[in-house]
Amino acid sequence: MSKMDEFMGAEVKRLKEADLDWKIHVLGSASLPHSVVDGKQVLMLCSNNYLGLSNHPKLKKAAIDAVEKYGAGSGSVRAIAGTMKLHIDCEKTLANFKGTEAALLFQTGFMANSGMIPQIAGEGDLIISDELNHGSIIDGVRLTKAERGIYKHKNMEDLRRVLEEAKKKNYGKIWIITDGVFSMDGDIAPMPGIVKLAQEYGAMTYVDDAHGDGVLGRNGRGIVDHFGLHGKVDIEMGTFSKAFGVVGGFICGSATMREYALNKARTFLLTGSHPPAVVAACKAAIEVLDEDPSIVKKLWENTKYFKGKLKTMGFNTGESETPITPIIVGESSKAQKLSLMLFNEGVFALPIIFPMVAKDKARIRTQVSAALTKGDLDFALEKTEKCGKELKIIN
Ligand code: PMP
Repeated sequence: MSKMDEFMGAEVKRLKEADLDWKIHVLGSASLPHSVVDGKQVLMLCSNNYLGLSNHPKLKKAAIDAVEKYGAGSGSVRAIAGTMKLHIDCEKTLANFKGTEAALLFQTGFMANSGMIPQIAGEGDLIISDELNHGSIIDGVRLTKAERGIYKHKNMEDLRRVLEEAKKKNYGKIWIITDGVFSMDGDIAPMPGIVKLAQEYGAMTYVDDAHGDGVLGRNGRGIVDHFGLHGKVDIEMGTFSKAFGVVGGFICGSATMREYALNKARTFLLTGSHPPAVVAACKAAIEVLDEDPSIVKKLWENTKYFKGKLKTMGFNTGESETPITPIIVGESSKAQKLSLMLFNEGVFALPIIFPMVAKDKARIRTQVSAALTKGDLDFALEKTEKCGKELKIIN
């Protein structure tokens, strides 16, 4: 065995023995409400495709047309020869939709966070994070020389405490960074409180709205629109990989911020730009949302119906306020069993266990989509109730 395989094999074995390894499930169909997963026809209840846009005819047509006209690849990084008119058009459409001066595309949301955060603070600065922020924020923060502060999840008293302590240290810049919608619990960041404290203490604000774009606000304009905070949040980061149904990260804010980012963020500068199909489909997704409020409306109708029924059955859906609906069951083994039983019954929803969530808060995380019919939701509810009773999660 090679030296590499020796150490990697040992770690994989450890993960497997602790049941902490990822089992990759394979889709044999498009990501649809009724998908084929590992060869079995199942109801999709754990995709980020909140609006079903990944299979929307307008997005598909935009992608195909872009390939016909511009080819399969862009040929370069954005800063050299890889900025096509398509990229600029998409950024303008996005900024317009979000109500910001400008927007800048990144390859993924992960790359937006991990590339941008290291550029907004350095030595002598402070970045303050919600304790449950996404891993891409955490990795971005790890790449800075700035000091880090953490506040208790959504706790504004605790954020004030960190800001008070910061006063004594005379930092240069202070940033507060938060997820907009928290991806494990589906709860919403208290943005008005964060903005108020930021103003009081002279801090800047950065929100990762990966799960809020296409979900919150008018026609899915996101958390800033939801709270009416236009112009008060410095950087709105987001992704095209979830409700928008494609792939790609972005930051929205002032034109100066965009110019700074495109000169500084290494994950923008040193990577090939999106192929034409991707960027054309992203632009089409925004246009579909902008034109048709009924999709987001349907998402919320489905969410309220599904969550309401689960609660009536006696399931614990935690603090969820959005289509991300955890069914909290306690022990990891129970969550794993529930997920497996549901799969056998034709419902695909994965377990989320320690270390992703606390040991006693294992869950399956369901994600509602606008593409699901009432019949689909009733099917999922019936199966969840049946399995929940068998596992004695509910009575
Ligand atoms: N932020 C949050 C809160 C997320 O949930 C995710 C996706 N898991 C990302 C960022 C990364 O987005 P992308 O998939 O575009 O890399």
